[in-house]
Amino acid sequence: MATSDPPPTEADPSALMCHSDEVGLCAKCWRKTHRYGRGGNPLCSYCFAAVSAQWGPRVRRTPRA
Ligand SMILES: [Zn+2]
Repeated sequence: MATSDPPPTEADPSALMCHSDEVGLCAKCWRKTHRYGRGGNPLCSYCFAAVSAQWGPRVRRTPRA
């Protein structure tokens, strides 16, 4: 596993590159990240990488029912 992830207090790089009203908090580590679309559970790229490593590359972010 990656051990070089920055601390959650540090925003995800994607959050710095997107529009400010598209910034949300990662559902897992609460760092600022790019929110893809309205609602849903944003994951920062670090958590998303961990999730896709766990569940496979085909996993997609799915809205919670
Ligand atoms: Zn995260």
